[in-house]
Amino acid sequence: MYDEECDYLFKAVLTGDSGVGKSNLLSRFAKDEFRLDSKPTIGVEFAYRNIRVRDKFIKAQIWDTAGQERFKAITSSYYRGALGALLVYDITRRKSFENVRNWLVELREFGGEDMVVILVGNKSDLVESRHVEEKEGKEFAEKEGLCFMETSALKNLNVEQVFLQMITKIFEITSQKSL
Ligand code: GDP
Ligand code: MG
Repeated sequence: MYDEECDYLFKAVLTGDSGVGKSNLLSRFAKDEFRLDSKPTIGVEFAYRNIRVRDKFIKAQIWDTAGQERFKAITSSYYRGALGALLVYDITRRKSFENVRNWLVELREFGGEDMVVILVGNKSDLVESRHVEEKEGKEFAEKEGLCFMETSALKNLNVEQVFLQMITKIFEITSQKSL
């Protein structure tokens, strides 16, 4: 599918602590249909995926940090124009869940007013070493008005679903606006 054939082009970002599984979630989602563009100069990578929502063709461009989560210089360009975000923590690392607050501050500062934010508790396969209960993630998300889902990039659980939920929500907001 060529660019001119798609109805919408959406940018979305992955955010959260280093090591929570952002890059693995993205490569799972992008699978074989992906194109990974490396931009080493600014430390950002992104992948595309073409999706059909109802009768529309959407090209989703998902940005990943390339391991420079705390490199402040890229922050504003990273979020610029992003309509959605997956805010990821690791259910086995309590600290990564506590830091969700800080990531949310950053998202709200640099992201748009009606940015679609989904809180993602990744590594749900690591049942034995879980340190954050699903209920905690859910409650925090409800309080902050976010969607919530637990995923496993390793076992490919809920990965497709979480990206599709974000893209569908962006689509709903965007198509409402253009009415
Ligand atoms: P990032 O720094 O947020 O991009 O995290 P990565 O995607 O690089 O993953 C960090 C580490 O966690 C790697 O060793 C991955 O293999 C591992 N990992 C990522 N997702 C999962 C998952 O769902 N389950 C398990 N068990 N390990 C995962
Ligand atoms: Mg990474």
